[in-house]
Amino acid sequence: MIEVKNLTKMYGEKLAVNDISFTVEKGEILGFLGPNGAGKSTTMNMLTGYISSTSGQILINGKDIFENPKEAKANIGYLPEIPPLYLDMTVDAYLNFMFDLKKCKLPRRAHLDDVCGLCKISDVRKRVIKNLSKGYKQRVGLAQALINNPPVLILDEPTVGLDPNQIIEIRTLIKKLGKKHTVILSSHILPEIQAVCDRIIIINKGTVAADGTADEIAKNITNEHKMTMRIEGETHTASDKEKITEAIRSIEGVKYVRADMEREKGIYDYDIETDGKTDVRRELNKICSKNGWNIMMLQLSDLTLEDIFLKITMGEQIGLEKKGKKSKVRINLVTEGNAEAEAADEKSAEEAPAEKTEDTENAGGDK
Ligand code: ADP
Ligand code: MG
Repeated sequence: MIEVKNLTKMYGEKLAVNDISFTVEKGEILGFLGPNGAGKSTTMNMLTGYISSTSGQILINGKDIFENPKEAKANIGYLPEIPPLYLDMTVDAYLNFMFDLKKCKLPRRAHLDDVCGLCKISDVRKRVIKNLSKGYKQRVGLAQALINNPPVLILDEPTVGLDPNQIIEIRTLIKKLGKKHTVILSSHILPEIQAVCDRIIIINKGTVAADGTADEIAKNITNEHKMTMRIEGETHTASDKEKITEAIRSIEGVKYVRADMEREKGIYDYDIETDGKTDVRRELNKICSKNGWNIMMLQLSDLTLEDIFLKITMGEQIGLEKKGKKSKVRINLVTEGNAEAEAADEKSAEEAPAEKTEDTENAGGDK
């Protein structure tokens, strides 16, 4: 449905999106997860043809967004980071206006009734948009994106600034929309993405740092496996602890061992970290049985998606292993220099309007 190849965007000297590639299948709900400034909005603005790319290709349903913008954009409904609402219009007037702008051929009244029903804004259609709550405004923004029933929906931080109840409503709505549409949604909040998306792309500093389901991403971290073992020694004394720690440390593939609290009399927990390549559990078993120690518990504690997200975005180097092929992901540390660069970006932010392409028909109400 969507194919992105080697997409790059420079704002002047600033590299905002750096050679990213991915595909989205029909009917998928894909989450773009990344901290502020990662390049999510820039990518979405290119996907929707709202800004041009520096290089790379985007195909929407086989149509090149830059070469055949009209045909490609006809497939997309876009809710930008700041919804393109005309605040002095009523909801009805605005949606009718968007209906005309998108040259929608569907039966007007029935289609707008459907869209309003779906977005739960039927009761505010006569109200002026500026008087609506943030949650309602966001739903009007979504309704606008749904006009003309586009197969692809692109939603940039759709729940930002909403209260918890409104967030749940929008999430439920997005899930429902995902049954009929291909959806890409961005967020800097992990639980948000986890709750709604089938697949996650973690974007950091303009590059794809991870791509897969939440489970795949969490499982594919290979350079750090942790486990906790509870072992009963022979003598139930601290000397057992020394011996056991030493024995575990001697196993190939074990990087780190630390005896933790005494859990039961003379029984300790041992936190073990391995190199991620060696499964040390069998060897641990053998050593324990040889010495007459009893394993009372063994608990694997792989990194959660949250650990991974933090590691990626806080700038540690991790290794991701995909099924079949290995892909090492190197992430640079966030430095002072980058903070300065961010500040400099703010100044050049006014360049943006010049980047827009001429055809903004389906870009969601370019003012
Ligand atoms: P996100 O949506 O993930 O928060 P953005 O795509 O908005 O990130 O921004 C990515 C980077 O590009 C940031 O460093 C941001 O400062 C910079 N940037 C965004 N828009 C502009 C612009 N119009 N001019 C210059 N720099 C920009
Ligand atoms: Mg953004």
